[in-house]
Amino acid sequence: MKKNIKDYNLEELKQEFVSISEKPYRAEQVFKWIYEYNVTSFEEMTNLSKELREKLNENYTLKNFSILKKLESKDGTKKYLFDIQDDGNAIETVLMEYKYGKTLCVSSQIGCRMGCKFCASTGIPFIRGLTSGEIVEQVLAVQRDENVRISNIVFMGIGEPLDNYDNVVKAIRILNHPKGLAIGARHISVSTSGIVPKIYDLAKEQIQCTLSVSLHCPNDEKRSELMPVNKIYNIEELIKACKFYIEETGRRVSFEYALAKDNNDNLEDAKELIKLIRGMNCHVNLIPINKIENGKFIKSTNENIIKFRDYLNEHGIVATIRRELGSDIDAACGQLRRQNLYNKVN
Ligand code: SF4
Repeated sequence: MKKNIKDYNLEELKQEFVSISEKPYRAEQVFKWIYEYNVTSFEEMTNLSKELREKLNENYTLKNFSILKKLESKDGTKKYLFDIQDDGNAIETVLMEYKYGKTLCVSSQIGCRMGCKFCASTGIPFIRGLTSGEIVEQVLAVQRDENVRISNIVFMGIGEPLDNYDNVVKAIRILNHPKGLAIGARHISVSTSGIVPKIYDLAKEQIQCTLSVSLHCPNDEKRSELMPVNKIYNIEELIKACKFYIEETGRRVSFEYALAKDNNDNLEDAKELIKLIRGMNCHVNLIPINKIENGKFIKSTNENIIKFRDYLNEHGIVATIRRELGSDIDAACGQLRRQNLYNKVN
């Protein structure tokens, strides 16, 4: 099977070229064609000799995704279902418009093992983690399709990024590399359901990306019911790891809190949350939960969401309500892939 050339970082590609008796600077040229010019074939790399282009064609692929489906919301959010080419699997990527730029929500795995009860990825089979090249290709494919430059990346699509740690970190380094996509690390956000040992590892990488933790509940009893990962790494351990991340990187941690009606949205929950994170360099992102097919959680009322936010703000916790984007196109992670699977079997 041909190797995906996008799975190499620049140093690895140089070594690879040496191993096929090519000069390392050729790797720099190929890197430039991929990340600066976003070409989709070796034939387009016109400053390489014909022989080298043929050699590359014989042994490597650029693994360009094709679009299986593209949905566009009234608010400008665009959701892609990509065919990842070699194994019949599909992944989702969402492009969102914010005033500070275009943000891409990328998937890190095909499926997810974490089993969060509110998530559309739960209940559909986990296949595998994406390679770093497949993660980066989501950005390239959208940039090609929309002819835009993506300025922010959030790892909040399908999958638990820290369950695919090595490939995610490698992808971040390529996205961030000045000769890669040159996206500032501070514009890259990694979300986790709370795989504690990997939070420590990520802190030590010194990448300066934002850590976004899906907290959702302020106590173990409720959180374990919603997120099975909490039975392995409880809230105390999770908060300790977040404090380490803040200390080590100097970065503020973002806590995601999806509000579900009559579940985690009352003021008692807000009080517990304040006690838990008071004094930390953090921000709380309140998310009106997306109702999913077969999901038992429903969205909190607007009134409750505002009350919850105001209560946190009044008690010194910076909290904002995330703007709902793409609700008319099922932009919550997993929903399009879920529909695609159902369509295949029905
Ligand atoms: S919310 Fe994220 S971590 Fe949890 S099941 Fe869904 S994709 Fe996985």
